[in-house]
Amino acid sequence: MAETLFSKIIRGEIPCDKVYEDDTSLAFRDINPQGPTHILVIPKAEIEDVSQVEEGSGLMDHQIAVANQIAKDEGIAEEGYRLVINKGANGGQSVDHLHVHLIGGRQLTWPPG
Ligand code: AMP
Repeated sequence: MAETLFSKIIRGEIPCDKVYEDDTSLAFRDINPQGPTHILVIPKAEIEDVSQVEEGSGLMDHQIAVANQIAKDEGIAEEGYRLVINKGANGGQSVDHLHVHLIGGRQLTWPPG
């Protein structure tokens, strides 16, 4: 896959507002937040989108576990939050590096646009 700006963020070449990091994942605040809390959880591995995730790899389990823990740390877990994964053009994906949006801190509407 072509390198994206998220690869540069992972390498520290572009700054981010980091909230969590471990060996395989990084989480940072979205530059254009859609709620009081809007954090992106990304794998450090270069995976283009959710369709590339291998069943049984444990990758999404971990991404979701990280997002759930951050929601608790941010104090939004009790009221609820939304995890979103956009895929491709129609899905609204603008950065071709797999990421989970954690959005919360306000009442979210449904359906999405
Ligand atoms: P998506 O549209 O699902 O691909 O989400 C990409 C997200 O990355 C958008 O919500 C952008 O606001 C966010 N974004 C783009 N550049 C940066 C950046 N440099 N730092 C943090 N978030 C970013």
